[in-house]
Amino acid sequence: MNAQRRRKIALVAHDHKKAALIEWARINKDTLAQHDLVATGTTGKMLGEQVGLNVRCLRSGPLGGDQQLGALICEDQVDMLVFFWDPLEPQPHDPDVRALLRIAVVYDTPTACNRATADYLISSPLFAA
Ligand code: PGA
Repeated sequence: MNAQRRRKIALVAHDHKKAALIEWARINKDTLAQHDLVATGTTGKMLGEQVGLNVRCLRSGPLGGDQQLGALICEDQVDMLVFFWDPLEPQPHDPDVRALLRIAVVYDTPTACNRATADYLISSPLFAA
């Protein structure tokens, strides 16, 4: 039997979207636990404390965490990005948010910006291939 390929999954949620990401992560905990997880600071801390996942925490998003994730994408260290950004609130680090989304497109990184897309990605046969 083939073991599932270990993926590098990056997770970020803006403050008003953190509850949605935590809920999604709880539902998908068993799958997520089989992969290498990296997240911006507060998101990663919450995933660890509230869901029990082992997550490498970067800086908080507004303090450079989004830029760190962008750099990881450039270095082929991210296979999938789950980024629940908030379309209803201005962010102080909006240039970093845009840069992260841009570099994810440049590197053809599968990116989910809402729960429906995150569900599609994690259940895709391509994810498990
Ligand atoms: P946070 O950063 O996980 O540290 O809250 C997310 C963001 O605002 O980009």
